[in-house]
Order: sequence, then C-alpha cells, then structure tokens
Amino acid sequence: MPITLTADILAILRDLLPPPRPVGLHEPLFGERDKALTLDCLESGWVSSVGQYVDRFEQGLADYTGIPHAVATVNGTAALHTCLLLAGVQRDDEVLLPALTFVGTANPVAAMGAIPHFVDSAYDTLGVDPEALRQHLKYHTEQRDGVCYNRRSGRPIRALVVVHVMGHVADMPALRRIADDYGLKLIEDAAEALGSFRDDRHAGHWGDLTALSFNGNKIITTGGGGALLTRDADLARRAKHLTTTAKQPHPWAFDHDMVGYNYRLPNLNAALGCAQLEQLPQRLEQKRGLARQYAQAFAALNNVALHAEPEGCRSNHWLNLLLLPDETDREPLLTAAHAEGILMRPFWTPLHRLPMYQGMPRANLVVADQLFARGVCLPSSAALAQGAVS
Ligand SMILES: *Cc1c(COP(=O)(O)O)cnc(C)c1O
Repeated sequence: MPITLTADILAILRDLLPPPRPVGLHEPLFGERDKALTLDCLESGWVSSVGQYVDRFEQGLADYTGIPHAVATVNGTAALHTCLLLAGVQRDDEVLLPALTFVGTANPVAAMGAIPHFVDSAYDTLGVDPEALRQHLKYHTEQRDGVCYNRRSGRPIRALVVVHVMGHVADMPALRRIADDYGLKLIEDAAEALGSFRDDRHAGHWGDLTALSFNGNKIITTGGGGALLTRDADLARRAKHLTTTAKQPHPWAFDHDMVGYNYRLPNLNAALGCAQLEQLPQRLEQKRGLARQYAQAFAALNNVALHAEPEGCRSNHWLNLLLLPDETDREPLLTAAHAEGILMRPFWTPLHRLPMYQGMPRANLVVADQLFARGVCLPSSAALAQGAVS
C-alpha cells in the first residue's frame, strides 16, 4: 500500500516539476534589478548599518503591509528577540508558543531565560488553535492583578507568540481576543508570511509586535535579514534604539543608555531587499500559481490531501504541504523522493520533542504531533510555477 502511494505521488511530482535535479525546497530568485541595487550600494561605500537603503526598505515594508513602523534587523530571530524584550518578557516568565514551528520561534525566548510553554495547532490554519488555547488557559491558569499565572509552575505568562505557518495567517481575531482576556502581549511570528492576508489585512495587523524574516529560503530575501513591525510609534523608536546598541544620537560621542544589541540590517542587505520587494507582487502570482498546480494534480489521488488555504485568507503559499493518510507513509516517500533529487522535507520536529525543550510546560499537543507525522513539504520555489519568468 505505501509502495503504490509513494509511486503515485512521485509520478505526479515528476510530471509537475521540470528538470534539472535536484529540485530544492525553496530557492531564491535574483534578476538584473537585484544586481543593480546591490552594486549601487557597494559603489556608494555605505555598506554597513547606516544608509539610504535601510530607510527605503523599512518604508517599503510599512507601505506594503499597512503597518506604519518597520525596523529592519540582521535576521528574523533578532527581530523576535527584540519583540520579546519590548513586550516586557523577563527571565523566568513563560511565553506561549506553538510546538509546531521552526526552532527560531522558541530560541530567543529560552536565550532570555524565559520559558517556552507549548500550545497546540489547528488543522485548518496550521497555526495556534484558539479554542484549544482558551480551554488550556481556562483550566491551567489564574489571573491576579491583570497578570496571568500558570497554576502549576506559579510563573507569570507574559506573552503569546503566534506563527503564520507556511504563510497561512492564523485565526488572529480569535487569538487577539484571548490575548486581551488573559492580559497577554501578542507577538506575530510572520517570518514566513510576507504577502499573506486575512480579511484583507496583512499579517502583523493584530499583534502588538511582529517579526518578519528575509532569510534565503523565505519568499523574498536579503541574504540574511528580518524586520520588526508595529503600529506603536514609541515601540518602534525603542526597537530602533535597542537594535543600534542603545547609542544616543550624537556626532561623535559613544554614549549608550542601556544594554543594547547590534541587530541593525546592513545597508548592503537592505539594497537587495529593496529590489526584492519590488518583485513581491510577481512572486506572489507565481507562488499562488504553483499552489493551484499542486492542488489540481493531487486532486487525482483520493487518499492524500494538499493542505488548503484557510477560509478568509489570501496566503503567500510559502510552502505547499501534503498530508499523507498515515505516518508510516512519510519516510518511504521522503527516501524515494530524495533518491531522485526531489528534496521534499518533513515538518519541523515539534519543539517539545527536542532535547532542550522536553521538560517545558505544555498543553495537549495531539494536532501538532499528527501534522508532523503526516505532513510533507513539497518543493515550492516560485520558479517552479509553470510559465514562470525569473
Ligand atoms: C525563518 C523563521 C524564523 C527565523 O528567521 P531567521 O531570519 O532565519 O532568523 C523564525 N520563525 C519562523 C517561523 C521561521 O520560518
């Protein structure tokens, strides 16, 4: 049974994915404009943390997302760390986040001495399940003076980090209500979700603070890079201060008024970011086209399902996810696909299964475990869309 299933899936992929091999999971795309702006930046000499491209890139992100303030950072993890600091997360606080996410969501929490508290995901959005979260909070927390405490550990739960997994915006209206009801700061990990909307609002609309990533495998890239988004001008000002070593503006003096970080995105990376951002609308067309092609092709197989765009969402389809009927189907498929250079991948190992996060507080994680066991991510580079021009 798994042998025929593997063969059927591979036949579809062989047909859909043009040579050459290997086909990566998600490759960046560069053209003349990327070269022109990067070269212009090099020739200007302003390659480091000050320069016009950083300002332009930040303004471009704010304009595109409709979230007024953007602060560019060296990567998405640094943006998340800054979000957590500004949300007031402190050592020994707990932070709610999904078990089914990239490890970069939890690492900055742990690096601050705070404690990730894992919650479950929903089948439709792949993100935090609001109903399961509300039940969990109802039975396992209590509120005193507007602060939510974990009954078992006695620790304050300071924030909720939601993740827009594979570029599908989580059920943010419901999650915003929960954050408000329980006095939690709401952070959106939108690392995978530039170009993704729910109810015509861009990812990041609901959170107090939002993080983006421009790593090489994201929908657009700056090589490495990230950004923090917020509607709050004061938080944006503090984000910029924290990410520029907390230096007081002055023509020559090195005065710093708190422990800060060297987290600013270099101008060289921002130049590439400006060129990439211009191509985002076209990239989204390609990604949506590829998702349609996969959906049509896999409709022919009745025991597997391509994960569908959640209702109310217009997703960037960062990665396409195929759900297999049974967890025993996954390894044979991955093995056979890799053998012929189709580099599909499983979901991330749920974080509560990683050695450093095994003892952390958690809710029931049955959906996260199921999605991990049965999900495989298909090659999703924009250039794979039929009729794509690079
Ligand atoms: C990529 C990613 C990050 C981290 O971004 P970097 O730029 O690689 O630091 C964080 N969270 C999620 C969900 C991601 O996909």
